[in-house]
Amino acid sequence: MQQPLKIAIVGSGLVGSLLALYLKRAGHDVQVFDRSKDIRTMDFSGRSINLAMSTRGWKALDGVGIGDAIRKIAIPMDKRAIHATDSTIAYQKYGMEGESIYSISRGELNRMMIDLTAKEGVEFFFEKKIWDVKLAEGVICIGETERGDWEELKYDKIFGADGAFSKVRNRMQKQNRFDYQQHFLNIGYKELKIEANSLGNHRIDKNSFHIWPRGEFMLIALPNLEGSFTCTLFIPFEGKYSIESLKEERDVVAFFKEFFPDATALIPDLVRDFFVNPTSSLVTTQCFPWTYEDKVALIGDAAHAIVPFYGQGMNAGFEDITQLYDLMQLHGDNWLKIFKDYEQLRKPNADAIAELSYRNFVEMSSKTADPDFLLRKKIEAWFTEIHPEKWLPLYDRVTFSHKPYAEALEIGDQQKRIMDQVMLLPGITKRWQTAEIENFILSKLK
Ligand SMILES: Cc1cc2nc3c(=O)[nH]c(=O)nc-3n(C[C@H](O)[C@H](O)[C@H](O)COP(=O)(O)OP(=O)(O)OC[C@H]3O[C@@H](n4cnc5c(N)ncnc54)[C@H](O)[C@@H]3O)c2cc1C
Repeated sequence: MQQPLKIAIVGSGLVGSLLALYLKRAGHDVQVFDRSKDIRTMDFSGRSINLAMSTRGWKALDGVGIGDAIRKIAIPMDKRAIHATDSTIAYQKYGMEGESIYSISRGELNRMMIDLTAKEGVEFFFEKKIWDVKLAEGVICIGETERGDWEELKYDKIFGADGAFSKVRNRMQKQNRFDYQQHFLNIGYKELKIEANSLGNHRIDKNSFHIWPRGEFMLIALPNLEGSFTCTLFIPFEGKYSIESLKEERDVVAFFKEFFPDATALIPDLVRDFFVNPTSSLVTTQCFPWTYEDKVALIGDAAHAIVPFYGQGMNAGFEDITQLYDLMQLHGDNWLKIFKDYEQLRKPNADAIAELSYRNFVEMSSKTADPDFLLRKKIEAWFTEIHPEKWLPLYDRVTFSHKPYAEALEIGDQQKRIMDQVMLLPGITKRWQTAEIENFILSKLK
């Protein structure tokens, strides 16, 4: 049990609201500030961003007993559905043990988490912008505008859960020897929608993560509870096929008909969605340290924003909370130690998932349709089945395990080197399921 403290969390997003619940359960007096309106009062009809929740995320939700409530608004996806340009679909099962990832509406999830957290006595203050933080004093500065009068509130601890463009981090950046870098991809994304059919059912398989891989660009679709799918088009900002090149209605229609004919037939408001919905950018941010003495800590996207191609941003932020909480149990009131261990433990893993996420664009947009890649996957699955203790494929290690991301990156690279050699063996397409190949892999693992 810790000495009760007065704690402020900046940001009531997914990470801020879950962290608030953990800290409240640990006996602290918790107040959460967000610059936006209360998401529970907002109408999402028309737009719903959705996310894939996986094992690390569920662990953090189950850790405070809210996993089952959230499962009710989640749809399991046990496979990828790969849509070719001739409209044929190939299914690839996720997970060696029949595991699923779960499609969940970000808005619904956030609403529910704020609701559950507020019921336990956490106080939320909306439309409160934090402009600055006095790190050493534990003071947050709230105001209408950057140059107006600010109200100052003092706390024992402050957590910056204020997302990729965090103001709390911004303040920490002004210190000596604070490392920070950000990198924008030359790929933007646009959301589109496949509506439910007239009976309110899904028009394509609802238990699949749908991908239309086309190399430089791709379309994905995740199911929503009321029968629709949220589609996301990832496409370069400039180039032959790009946001820049799709200027006219006829360009958009021709592009979709050529590359996504089956999806085009399912998106009634394609042209309107394309031109009305904003084009958003994708950023990776990395920084260090994540804490200031025993007063202030960054968490979630504020500490490590990543591109979404591994579906791990929120999951990684939730895992930050699980591990911070474990350290609170371990070190009691020694917050200096809690914060130091937290950043030391999490930073290499945040860097690893940033790298893996970056690389996964190529896997999703090109390799999922590549016969060579599919054969590799088959060989890996076959080998894992006979030697589960010796080989866990990279995707499973990241998505369906609690093993550190840094370990997943390192072992994944070793496995890739072995598979590169396997794929060069003569006649591999015919004799991959043989004792010879099994022994070859075993010899490389020694
Ligand atoms: C297209 C896309 C797809 C994604 N898909 C997945 C996925 O499938 N799986 C997955 O795990 N992750 C996914 N992610 C990542 C995931 O959305 C983020 O990692 C997650 O939302 C981060 O949560 P957070 O609470 O740290 O930050 P945020 O959700 O950004 O919340 C920050 C909060 O802080 C508030 N705030 C900001 N500045 C201030 C301020 N100055 N004062 C007060 N309040 C402030 C904001 O209003 C906001 O409510 C995806 C991201 C994108 C862009």
